[in-house]
Amino acid sequence: MICARCNKLIQPGEKAETITNPGATAAGADIEIHAVPCRPAPQQTAPEQRWSD
Ligand SMILES: [Zn+2]
Repeated sequence: MICARCNKLIQPGEKAETITNPGATAAGADIEIHAVPCRPAPQQTAPEQRWSD
């Protein structure tokens, strides 16, 4: 599966977290992200994108 935060592959055996995507159009859409903090993938369409966390 693909990490929704960094857009990289979550390897089999690698720890992942399932979270509910707050921006999903469908309510309760679950997405997977690395359990270990990873860098958000830069968005090519928005070079100045800021991640306020
Ligand atoms: Zn990731």
